[in-house]
Amino acid sequence: MTNLKHFFILGATGSIGQQAIEVLRTLDNIKIEAISFGSNIESAKKIIDEFKPRLVCAGSLELADEIKKIYPNIITCYGDNGLSEVSCFDNKLDNNDCYVLNAVVGMVGLQSTIDAIKMGRTILLANKETLVVGGELIEKLKKDYDVKLIPIDSEHSAIMQCLHGYENKDVDKLIITASGGAFRNLKRDELESVTIDDALKHPNWNMGKKITVDCATMVNKGLEVMEAHYLFGFDYDHIDTILHFESIVHSLIQFKDGSILAQMAKPDMRLPIQYAITFPNRCDFKLDKALDLTASNISFKNMDFDRYPMLALAYAVGKMGGLMPTVYNSSNEAAVKLFIEKKIKFLDIEKIIANTCNKYKKDNKFDYELSDVLSLDKKIKEEILNNYQELLK
Ligand code: NDP
Ligand code: MG
Repeated sequence: MTNLKHFFILGATGSIGQQAIEVLRTLDNIKIEAISFGSNIESAKKIIDEFKPRLVCAGSLELADEIKKIYPNIITCYGDNGLSEVSCFDNKLDNNDCYVLNAVVGMVGLQSTIDAIKMGRTILLANKETLVVGGELIEKLKKDYDVKLIPIDSEHSAIMQCLHGYENKDVDKLIITASGGAFRNLKRDELESVTIDDALKHPNWNMGKKITVDCATMVNKGLEVMEAHYLFGFDYDHIDTILHFESIVHSLIQFKDGSILAQMAKPDMRLPIQYAITFPNRCDFKLDKALDLTASNISFKNMDFDRYPMLALAYAVGKMGGLMPTVYNSSNEAAVKLFIEKKIKFLDIEKIIANTCNKYKKDNKFDYELSDVLSLDKKIKEEILNNYQELLK
């Protein structure tokens, strides 16, 4: 008889959160103890009715009060602090059986990841921004508290599967695949007038708005390169990116002898989610049939860093280290917010990130703490959201 697995889901109403719930529904011995949602109360209510979590965190006090009125027996909380209450809920449970699935969007998930590690709970991480801004802090804490952090991001899940049983010293490089996003068939001069609705039409994946825009700018791949650096301990010269339009090969590793190992599956996030939950074991995937190789067309092209300057910039800030990945991530989060709100044009996202990185690189700090990351993030976002016209001159 296996122990009951207790789940704490941050961002349960989002694209990853909902797909995680679909997977959990098919597995045995699972209890969802706590969830968070931002604003989608209808979706949250459905999850509450089905899984009866004991604690619910809402995006605002008003929404938390609304939940409390409908479900008086549920413990409620709200806001950024509430996310940590979700990841640390019920210290009477055996933390070896506790899984914190972090699927919020943006670095707002950082503190709750750190708090969950300090509880000794396993982290199933979709929230890549957490690792980009807090990679060094998290890697240290993981060792100090001896916890597992398992990536859900499909490329990192693929690399983890390929590396299984090998040592880093046998591997020459990681090769991360990129679909190219919504505008992969457009040249740079054709990007002048593209809109948010165009950017949200991803060819292969159906995801939240922010990550879909990040795919179109290739910032997503930039974040993933940094995520891979922290997760697997490879330096940036040994992390390659390659264009692969079909999103079937989720990533590869190349050994010292030139042999390459790839992980392939349908482009379906429920697969890496299930693998993260059952890791290091595997079980039947009940939600779809396996990939039909004969119906799949697989192609690769060299990455074009002139076409995708934000990926080149990600390598540069990754190599600079210190707080520069935070500058890159925070300026992107603010710029994408402005683009989604239709306040700036698509190419302005690049300008804002590049100008902000340029502005902050002379003040880069290498010996930093969590409070430095959080205050820098706040400062950059305020500067951009209140003053973006300046950065676009
Ligand atoms: P979504 O936008 O679909 O969902 C985000 C979730 O976080 C929602 O539950 C939302 O609540 C909640 N949320 C949003 N803002 C806040 C906030 N400020 N405070 C608390 N909660 C908040 O995002 P995705 O599911 O697409 O992405 C989640 C993470 O996973 C991202 O880091 C992304 O990069 C990563 N990822 C996503 C993939 C995908 O296929 N979607 C693939 C690989 C990685 P509500 O909806 O109720 O407002
Ligand atoms: Mg990915």
